[in-house]
Amino acid sequence: MQAWVIGNWKQNPATSHDVNVLLDDLLVAVDAEKQAAIEVSKRCTLMVAPSCIHLAAVNARLKGSSILSAAQDISAHSASTGAYTGDCSAQQVADTGATWTILGHSERRQYHNESNDSLVKKLTHALTQNLGAILCIGETQAQYDAKQTLDVIDTQLSVIKDLLAQQPDLIASLPERLIIAYEPVWAIGTGKVPTVAEVSKTHQHIKQKMASFAEAIDSMTVLYGGSVNADNADSFASDPMIDGALVGGASLKAESFLMIAKAFSSANI
Ligand code: PEP
Repeated sequence: MQAWVIGNWKQNPATSHDVNVLLDDLLVAVDAEKQAAIEVSKRCTLMVAPSCIHLAAVNARLKGSSILSAAQDISAHSASTGAYTGDCSAQQVADTGATWTILGHSERRQYHNESNDSLVKKLTHALTQNLGAILCIGETQAQYDAKQTLDVIDTQLSVIKDLLAQQPDLIASLPERLIIAYEPVWAIGTGKVPTVAEVSKTHQHIKQKMASFAEAIDSMTVLYGGSVNADNADSFASDPMIDGALVGGASLKAESFLMIAKAFSSANI
């Protein structure tokens, strides 16, 4: 199975100049791998998710490369256009050349009160505009301490059940167009990580839960996210339940991002 390593740049870098420096580093390193015939991208799909303001420029530079791009969010209100100040629609994102969007990141849930209802709308808009969706789920520290991880995840995954109830025609697109990213909120940007065994068990649960919604989604791609870095990537990559990583901080340096991709690519040989 192809692994996925996705860089969530969040509200970074600060300037277009810095975006270009990061892209220069990434493209040069990916090209060097290609020349050396160690093509990471053959066994690991690389993707970056810049902030919306940089998406079109990033896609212009990624044209012809093996690196894909994603938005970090899309509008719940309309798939195309409308009076929704501050929003970017799925159609507008796709028009920049991006092929995916992150949805339901814990920072969107925390700072923008993202609900399951709005996520069903966003998923519908993404999939009908041919954008893949990386749906983020995960428990807070308090929920982890109270051993509620699997219950929290089940509630968050119910958006897929609701989506299928409302849009049964979308089922065929899900195996190719939906990725789940398990990101414990307490591990994001903190340097704290769950054990690989804990992540593995949770991923197994997610895969089983998804399969219980529909036969067509019985082999869901599930990524781990939360303080993945060049030093710990090997351990996550070694577990067959972990299909890749969603990476925040360590994706802002080409070197660490590619080290993580290499870990997953080597584990996939
Ligand atoms: C994230 O925000 O999706 C993330 C995984 O961040 P970090 O890698 O910095 O913990």
